[in-house]
Amino acid sequence: MSVALTYTSLMHDVIVVGAGLGGLACARDLARSGRRVLVLDKSRGVSGRAATRRREGVRIDHGAQYFTARSERLQRLVDSWQREGWLRIWTYGFPLWERGQVTARPEGHPRFAPLNGMSALGHHLARDLEVLSEVTVSSLARLEGGWKVYAQDGSAFQAASLVLNLPAPQLSALVTDLSLGAAGEQLDRVRFDPTWTLLVELQRDLPVDWPAVELRHEVLSWLSRDHTKRASGALPTLVAHASGSWSRAHLEEAREEVEVALLAAVQEVTGEIGVRRVQGHRWRYATPTVPFGHPFHWDPGLQLGWCGDWCGGARVEGALESGWGLAQALRASLTTA
Ligand SMILES: Cc1cc2nc3c(=O)[nH]c(=O)nc-3n(C[C@H](O)[C@H](O)[C@H](O)COP(=O)(O)OP(=O)(O)OC[C@H]3O[C@@H](n4cnc5c(N)ncnc54)[C@H](O)[C@@H]3O)c2cc1C
Repeated sequence: MSVALTYTSLMHDVIVVGAGLGGLACARDLARSGRRVLVLDKSRGVSGRAATRRREGVRIDHGAQYFTARSERLQRLVDSWQREGWLRIWTYGFPLWERGQVTARPEGHPRFAPLNGMSALGHHLARDLEVLSEVTVSSLARLEGGWKVYAQDGSAFQAASLVLNLPAPQLSALVTDLSLGAAGEQLDRVRFDPTWTLLVELQRDLPVDWPAVELRHEVLSWLSRDHTKRASGALPTLVAHASGSWSRAHLEEAREEVEVALLAAVQEVTGEIGVRRVQGHRWRYATPTVPFGHPFHWDPGLQLGWCGDWCGGARVEGALESGWGLAQALRASLTTA
């Protein structure tokens, strides 16, 4: 029997579309409170933009670079993950690069990074959850007492409640036929900046003492020595992010051309470097610039909600808080129904 038939015949309490950190945080809380939860994601793995590329033993974070933990709940989790040994403090802040000068800045709060890459966060949250990867959701249908979720490959899934954890423009396309009132209007106002990223495997490490710098530069906004997050002996690697404005202006350019431009920009900052391999990656929806305005959305009548960094704050901890908030609202609406 095909997977599609198997899942169509099963009814879950909640389907979560999108295994980014927001969706996983939400799914985890719901599963812990006894709900049958199914998570669907179009990618091969989980963790969304908190992503790590693995090739021939080299791990490079090509999305989120680190995270902060300001809330009590996240701080408690971070403490336990540090005790488990897979998370550590990477640094306490980053110097600023401008016109060839690197200026130190006062130390701030800890910046955390998993030893094996940022996607470890998603893998950790997804453990024991029912997650189906490589399922691209293409449409939704409201049923009597629930939702039917259709995927591009023809499979379909049913649940009483639906949580969407996609960047707003992708989410908007899925809910376009629903009457969502003010929430729908707010959703359509959300905007994102893209980011072009360059991953560089180096022949030799740079002779500098910073793990990463923020840049005032016409092309780049960020440059990190990504291997400084790994165990000692890791091959030297760089991650460069182009600024939002440069990425927007070059959004549709061929990847090979962008790789050449970004490598030239990196070498303006570092001087000539010995390169083993470079790879460009385009994030079409990288950073919310016009947010939703509420930490999450939950419509108890429709049993439909959404979460993500564009609701809870444009960073890892914003996505987590958004997912946790939505799980709480969903549970409360079922309890009081
Ligand atoms: C280049 C870059 C650098 C960043 N740097 C930092 C940083 O240093 N620190 C920090 O805190 N934050 C950083 N961020 C932001 C951080 O990555 C995000 O805030 C957070 O990961 C967002 O999580 P999310 O759950 O909201 O969404 P996402 O991670 O975007 O998850 C959405 C998920 O939905 C899936 N999906 C999309 N469409 C479909 C579909 N039709 N069907 C099924 N699944 C679908 C996607 O595959 C994805 O897994 C950075 C982001 C980028 C892109």
